[in-house]
Amino acid sequence: MAELSKDIAARRTFAIISHPDAGKTTITEKLLLLGQAIQVAGSVKGKKGPHATSDWMSMEQERGISVTSSVMQFPYLGRTVNLLDTPGHEDFSEDTYRTLTAVDSALMVIDGAKGVEDRTIKLMNVCRLRDTPIFSFVNKMDRDIRDPIELLDEIEEVLAIQGAPINWPIGMGSLFKGVYNLYTDTIHVFTPGQGSVLPDDKRIEGLDSGAARDLLGEDYDSFVEEIDLVRGASHEFDLQQFLAGKLSPVFFGTALSNFGVREMLDDFVQWAPPPLDRETTERTVGASEEKFSGFVFKIQANMDPRHRDRIAFLRVCSGRYSKGMKMRHTRLAKDVKIADAVTFKAGERVLVESAVSGDIIGLHNHGTIQIGDTFTEGEELQFTGIPHFAPELFRRIRLKDPMKSKQLQKGLQQLSEEGSTQVFAPISNTDLIVGAVGQLQFEVVSYRLKDEYKVEAMYEPVNVYTARWVHCSDARKLEEFRKKAADLLSIDGGGHLTYLAPTRVNLSLMEERWLDIEFRATREH
Ligand code: GDP
Repeated sequence: MAELSKDIAARRTFAIISHPDAGKTTITEKLLLLGQAIQVAGSVKGKKGPHATSDWMSMEQERGISVTSSVMQFPYLGRTVNLLDTPGHEDFSEDTYRTLTAVDSALMVIDGAKGVEDRTIKLMNVCRLRDTPIFSFVNKMDRDIRDPIELLDEIEEVLAIQGAPINWPIGMGSLFKGVYNLYTDTIHVFTPGQGSVLPDDKRIEGLDSGAARDLLGEDYDSFVEEIDLVRGASHEFDLQQFLAGKLSPVFFGTALSNFGVREMLDDFVQWAPPPLDRETTERTVGASEEKFSGFVFKIQANMDPRHRDRIAFLRVCSGRYSKGMKMRHTRLAKDVKIADAVTFKAGERVLVESAVSGDIIGLHNHGTIQIGDTFTEGEELQFTGIPHFAPELFRRIRLKDPMKSKQLQKGLQQLSEEGSTQVFAPISNTDLIVGAVGQLQFEVVSYRLKDEYKVEAMYEPVNVYTARWVHCSDARKLEEFRKKAADLLSIDGGGHLTYLAPTRVNLSLMEERWLDIEFRATREH
């Protein structure tokens, strides 16, 4: 038990949120290098990684997108860090949203030249749903970036979170000399040209020292003034505020030159929360409870073409998984013995012997596991808080061969349970409508329908602007609404009543007209 608590307390499980090109892949690589998970930077799967192992993946590669999200684990300063990768392409943002429900904190990477960009804003909004603590890293200090004070203001204003600079950059671009830690009064000196190795750790103690004066030269006085200004005008770091998701410690650096990442990681493993307690429909599950529990936040198909199987990624929320244990799949009220849970190392699957709260394990899914499913050591629990967002794009799906409608339905049902798409069956006709957050999701669905279910399908435009999940506590009112709005109502893949609004105006009118009906833009699994 003491062993288990110790293992759990050492876990730090997080994901990186950023706008494309801000440097997520680069920083991931440096984190792995620092964690000694890889020897030389450059061996992480990049956007066109070397793991061309299936047709589906070759399609991904042609497009230069990495859809596969994996889990990276490495030890650092006595902690065990789990970094959950998220798809870089915006069209797969639903996957990213769900991955964010499986972490305890997040690292926000901002391109210093560009500031806060749209994708970051969206992802921050998702983090806010659970008040996830956020670390911030302002990247690309080796370039001429924007005024750091202005960037700090932008983080605070646009993201509505307090920013507490932990260190402050000394110069930028070709004049970048390092960062000054406002709390330890230490200068970390930048040495260029160490991008692909473990960088040296050159420090100068005290801004007041001779060495600091030498390093800064004629900029010394103005830098001291700037630091006074920064101390006066910015928020001070406060661990409680950070843990409450209200304040973000801000670090500066350059991921490409591997500088500032270690300084950030050193604090990250101290301050970022260990596995947090999680809500279920029945009770709060404590992360250090002895009995195992966890939920599925992602299902990945075709990880291995030889098996054609799907892997369900499960976040362990309490206790320990050990190989061969019996778990209860609570939605199905079924006990299963699991001896082949996997994890991923350098793109290869390896069997997991043991995993604790905070870790991610992959379960083989033969069509029985859905996103949001809970597994326990026997207790009837259902974890909550895994969001399902209203799609933004809709298509009617038509079969080339009408005899295959059974296969089509089965395929769409499974793909929707895996979260690859959302499917809606209108209550007034036999159409099938698919919804997605990004265009590429449609292509994935038609590819997989053909490849796995042998169904050729076409898309047709359909007049739907958005979907809203309908709720009403008054059964009579709901029935009345059901009759009146029948033409625009559907049942989604999870069996929920959904209103498919043709226009934004129509949605507003319906919301005004039907005050007893709730039109929800998200639903939980
Ligand atoms: P992602 O899309 O967020 O994963 O971004 P990448 O890590 O692929 O980086 C996007 C581009 O920015 C690549 O060309 C990187 O080499 C470059 N880049 C990343 N970090 C830095 C940095 O610190 N300085 C500079 N100059 N370029 C960087």
